Amino acid sequence: MTDTAPPHYDLIIIGGGPAGQGAAEFAAFAGRRILVIERKVLGGLVVTTGGGPTKTLREAALHLTGFRYRTLYRITDQPDIVMAAERSLARTEQVSSTMQNSTHSFFVDRLGVDVVYGSARLGPNRSVIVTPIEVSERERVFTAEKVLIATGSRAFHPPNIPFDDPDIFDSEVLPRLKRVPKSTLVVGGGPIGCEFASIFSAFGIHVTVVQPGEHLLGTMDSELSDLLRIAFEKQGMRIVLGTGVRTAGRVHGELQITLQTGEVLRPDIVLFATGRLVNTEGLGLDAAGVKLSRRGIVEVDSHFQTSVEGVYAAGDVIGPSLASVSMEQGRVAASHALGLGFKVKLDPLSVSAVYSVPELAGVGLTEDIAKEQGIDYEVGRCSFGDIPRGLISGDTDGILKLIFHRQDRRLLGVHILGDIASELVALGQATLYNSGTIDVFNNLTFAVPTYTTAYKYAAFDGFKRLAATGVSLQTFGSEQTQDAVDSNQT
Ligand SMILES: Cc1cc2nc3c(=O)[nH]c(=O)nc-3n(C[C@H](O)[C@H](O)[C@H](O)COP(=O)(O)OP(=O)(O)OC[C@H]3O[C@@H](n4cnc5c(N)ncnc54)[C@H](O)[C@@H]3O)c2cc1C
Repeated sequence: MTDTAPPHYDLIIIGGGPAGQGAAEFAAFAGRRILVIERKVLGGLVVTTGGGPTKTLREAALHLTGFRYRTLYRITDQPDIVMAAERSLARTEQVSSTMQNSTHSFFVDRLGVDVVYGSARLGPNRSVIVTPIEVSERERVFTAEKVLIATGSRAFHPPNIPFDDPDIFDSEVLPRLKRVPKSTLVVGGGPIGCEFASIFSAFGIHVTVVQPGEHLLGTMDSELSDLLRIAFEKQGMRIVLGTGVRTAGRVHGELQITLQTGEVLRPDIVLFATGRLVNTEGLGLDAAGVKLSRRGIVEVDSHFQTSVEGVYAAGDVIGPSLASVSMEQGRVAASHALGLGFKVKLDPLSVSAVYSVPELAGVGLTEDIAKEQGIDYEVGRCSFGDIPRGLISGDTDGILKLIFHRQDRRLLGVHILGDIASELVALGQATLYNSGTIDVFNNLTFAVPTYTTAYKYAAFDGFKRLAATGVSLQTFGSEQTQDAVDSNQT
């Protein structure tokens, strides 16, 4: 090697969001030499505008306004919304900044990876060129055995919407939101739209949600999505389905939004949560021969390798999804890129969790898909109003729904609306992962009072439905499971 040879690494990761972090973790555990190049902040969307900040604002809003408990305990005093919002926004900024610092030290101190700040693009022969953030600094070149593209995504801006207006926001709203609006229009009833609608509603702000589809949360179980819509309407939100926005702008200084139906709305602010675009510009992908799909996302094979040998991609850049999924993709990609030989496959059963109020979470088949695929399925439901834990906390509108195969009672899907749905779903996820039957919930002795008991009563509801249609309940699944437990304990 000459003095002028660029620094060489086992793996260069472009983008320090969840996908980059997952990959860096695995590569660092294996003692490889890694460089992460980040143009803004390590941690990506999760620490700047996405998961971390929005969940902090949601938590703060619920606590400070007493949103969950005002009706339950007949608290008639009106909360000080301006104080609550100011403190919630301040706490959100504080948590976001703590997360940014701790992610930097996680990469550098805990994982021991090298970090360079700047915009990266691919050069020839697995070299990566970095344009530093400081304009006074010169471009730098690095080389690697393998390169991972983990550059993520950004909010999609529908055409003809003036996003430079101070009251028109996209889903990366948080760093820009500095005041409490009187009314909000949320365009897009997907996970991010529903989350923001819930946060604004908790602050007592009048919220309208406009969603082009027939249901909120189009990919979730439609029975539960409809229950979420009813819960939103009970909270005072207006939900407009089956239409979108035709124009948005100012008329005589006032924000004016015209829907495709012709209805004119005049909210204080409007937030567009209408999808995401991948960050592929300026990466030199074309010149390097990295193929993009027709949707503009980076194409990868099952090892997360792109069309160019040695160049991998993971996270939102291969199709916007979730931080949880992006991290796992990064880990699997690093495993293949570096031949680590463990975690070589992505779990296809990822949880979808929506942090609306109430929460909605699901894993596996929805009833809609089971029906569409002609599967011989049955359902079992348990209302939180029928279990002590639900009655204690007052979350009586919550529901847990199991989808299972009628022939062998194999679990096919779990869908939950209500308190801690995003946590509660994990038991169903683990059961699905192990190809378990609903008999598992019959066999297990859960702590009471807990929301977990909803699994047992949903299974009982399922057994009742089977019996009512003449299916024998002879316990092939349950006895086998119980025998295995007995032999483990002796
Ligand atoms: C409002 C909101 C709420 C969300 N809530 C959740 C949630 O609750 N749970 C969940 O699982 N997911 C959530 N998501 C989705 C989640 O944030 C993303 O799926 C996840 O961050 C994707 O990870 P990533 O690493 O692929 O990309 P990103 O997080 O976008 O990170 C990519 C990184 O690459 C950097 N980069 C881009 N181009 C270059 C370049 N040329 N050179 C160097 N660096 C570059 C960027 O600066 C960025 O830091 C939410 C998203 C939003 C917007």
